[in-house]
Amino acid sequence: MSATSPASLTIHELRTRLASRAVSPQEVVDDLLARMERLNPRLNVYAAIDPDRLRQQAKAASPIRGRLAGVPITVKDNICIDGELTTCASKILAGFRAPYDATVIHRLRREGAILIPRANMDEFAFGSSTENSTYGPTRNPWDLDCVPGGSSGGSAAAVAADVAIAALGSDTGGSIRQPAAFCGIVGLKPTYGRVSRYGLVAFASSLDQIGPLTKDVTDCAWLLSVIAGQDPNDSTSAPVDVPDYVAGLQQPVKGIRIGLPELSVEGIDPEVHRAIQDAITVFQRLGCSTVPVTLPNIGSAVATYYIIATAEASSNLARYDGVRYGRRVSGDNGQGTLLDMYERTRDQGFGAEAQRRILLGTYVLSHGYYDAYYLKGMKVRTLIKRDFDDALARCDVVLLPTAPSPAFRLGEKIDDPLQMYLSDVFTISANLAGVPALSVPCGFSSQGRPIGLQLLAAPFREEVLLRVGYAYEQATEWHRQQPE
Ligand code: GLN
Repeated sequence: MSATSPASLTIHELRTRLASRAVSPQEVVDDLLARMERLNPRLNVYAAIDPDRLRQQAKAASPIRGRLAGVPITVKDNICIDGELTTCASKILAGFRAPYDATVIHRLRREGAILIPRANMDEFAFGSSTENSTYGPTRNPWDLDCVPGGSSGGSAAAVAADVAIAALGSDTGGSIRQPAAFCGIVGLKPTYGRVSRYGLVAFASSLDQIGPLTKDVTDCAWLLSVIAGQDPNDSTSAPVDVPDYVAGLQQPVKGIRIGLPELSVEGIDPEVHRAIQDAITVFQRLGCSTVPVTLPNIGSAVATYYIIATAEASSNLARYDGVRYGRRVSGDNGQGTLLDMYERTRDQGFGAEAQRRILLGTYVLSHGYYDAYYLKGMKVRTLIKRDFDDALARCDVVLLPTAPSPAFRLGEKIDDPLQMYLSDVFTISANLAGVPALSVPCGFSSQGRPIGLQLLAAPFREEVLLRVGYAYEQATEWHRQQPE
């Protein structure tokens, strides 16, 4: 692929070329469609492709009106686009068309973006590999035998493979950052409350956030500036001003204090460990200082998350009953009872992982176990939040690996839920604490699989994350590497 192929450009590069009319929105869409035709059969990043709809949007796009005018952005299959299928990669939502635009979609449209429905994902965002999808697994563009991460694996792989300029995903326990790391791109989970979730299909309402997956940090700042801000339709969105994240990137990082938590090195792949150590040296060279910090309760984060997230998921998924949404399996020529219909619909509509989560979540909320599990989980969550408050009082950002290993092979963990859950060990605490976290490419394994580093900051300090991430990116070349 030539370096000037429009599909390979970042948002900011493309905006410059569209504005000067060096390239037209039609040419961009045609280039993307040609790549999709060639690559989607192998990567399976898109649940569906509608060339006519994309061409119509390109034709209607004005290359100058709006911050994303003429820029094609793909959207995870759990974010509502008016009139489009929105299925969360689940059979139970087969055929469901969203009756309205999510607020983030409204904001993308307002800025002139071209929307590419819809990126593959783990069913209802349950997973870390995009293998739990009714559309089949997505593959990692760097190594087709590997997973792209999950649950926003389609979004991440689409950006890495240049079949989208950027993407939206959702992150409940790492689902933006871990696939970003596995695919060698940038991913941000904003602060809880920074971005409206109106129109995001709920997984765990106290943890879910929508965020950008992009080719570089500038694009991440760009997209966040568009989607962030309070929304009257989401009472959990916060009345906090949205700074100009792009302008903030140029601020100096000299003197920034980077908090380094003590981590037990077992469980971290040695190549990931080395890449993080090298990144620390880069930050020191940039004039940042390092401060040791402790996160004493982070060891309980995975257990706590799988209590709280499954509890909330079981209650959010109660609405899929065959009556109001999507698919209904009546059987018996409609002769069975209402309960039979519920049971058949849910049994056939939900995949194995969704059923596992509903069972776990119902159990931890049940009478007699609520105090022992859910309530205790909430208390440990408070302790984890306090760990971050304390650590971030002593430093500006905390540095962690995004994932304990590079991308694993397809099928490697799918039959071992615990191993799969443990791959979220470094991402989950940001959701429990509600703090923002950014994943940036920081190297490759000897097998050529990308590695990501993660920066976490105090609530609503995304601009610090982006500034530090940008300085690192400018000092390194990782983000310029592309899969063959
Ligand atoms: N991998 C985690 C899970 O399976 C996180 C998913 C997410 O962030 N949506 O729950």
